[in-house]
Amino acid sequence: MNTPHPPEALPVPPELGDALEGFETVAVITHVAPDGDAIGSTLGLVHLLREQGKQAIPICQDPVPYQVNWLPHVDEFQRTIPPDVDAIISIDLSDIDRMGSPYDPEQFGHLPLINIDHHATNTLFGTVNWVEPRAVAACEMVYHLARAQNWPLTPRVATYILTGLLTDTRGLRTANVNARVMHVATHLVELGAPIGEITELTFNRKPLSLIKLWALALPHLHIEKEGIIWTIITEAMREEAGHREENDGGLVSFITAAEGMLVGIVFTEKPDGRVNVSFRSRPGVDVSRVAFALGGGGHPQASGATLNGSLDDVIPRVLAQVKEMLQHAGEA
Ligand code: AMP
Ligand code: MN
Ligand code: MN
Repeated sequence: MNTPHPPEALPVPPELGDALEGFETVAVITHVAPDGDAIGSTLGLVHLLREQGKQAIPICQDPVPYQVNWLPHVDEFQRTIPPDVDAIISIDLSDIDRMGSPYDPEQFGHLPLINIDHHATNTLFGTVNWVEPRAVAACEMVYHLARAQNWPLTPRVATYILTGLLTDTRGLRTANVNARVMHVATHLVELGAPIGEITELTFNRKPLSLIKLWALALPHLHIEKEGIIWTIITEAMREEAGHREENDGGLVSFITAAEGMLVGIVFTEKPDGRVNVSFRSRPGVDVSRVAFALGGGGHPQASGATLNGSLDDVIPRVLAQVKEMLQHAGEA
């Protein structure tokens, strides 16, 4: 890995490398309703492990989202963990429930569980935990792991890793992007990741049904005097727009950009009757603690939770908690 200015390394715990050496067949599982980082980090790690002679299987409860469905080998994802694996690696998820239906503790609870994640709200549920909130994406952790282990990075793996790095930073546009992250991105491009093509396919392409969904959601925009901007996505809107995918395709980031707003929220009705709450905030306002208090998690500027109840139940409850958080932040 020749590069004139090697990127600063984030430390990898030695016990992680030892644990990875110790098994032959491993399931790598990421979170329900996956995003680009979930898919990129899982496929990146799976292909790295295979190049080291391991059998590795990518697992996710839900389908690969449109944003990254162009990546090679996305059809390798399985929805169930094979019964004969030696170990499980979870990646990009902060609590054990985010693995969803594939992880049955009765069946797999006795196996080593390696938790690789970059959420500060991680509950350290693994037998080995590598939680690195300084990493802007789980993909960045896979990059540092490969370097620490002296695993070569092929152009394909560099593409997976750069894709997740770009999606979790919205194209290197989040406040946590710094020189280290730029160096890692540059190194991945040097290794053969086609950044222009990745950007084009990932950010400059959306299904028409998603644009129609935004058109239906935006008339429901609400602004609270405390600096909260929010809207809803209902099952009926998804039906009318013909958009089945559960994620909002970036709507919450879009509305949070409104001048003067501190927090943006999208409340999405899920087919199972629960409500998905997606938070974004301005730098300096931490929404991850509210999300964690609601049973979810995430990052200071981007977090979420899934709540029981109808929109009418959930919205006032969440708004009250966010207002209380903002009031305390104002007093601090
Ligand atoms: P999203 O708004 O869905 O893009 O999610 C933003 C961030 O919050 C991501 O880092 C997610 O991992 C995290 N997150 C979203 N929903 C949940 C949830 N139900 N539980 C825990 N973390 C979540
Ligand atoms: Mn994710
Ligand atoms: Mn992530």
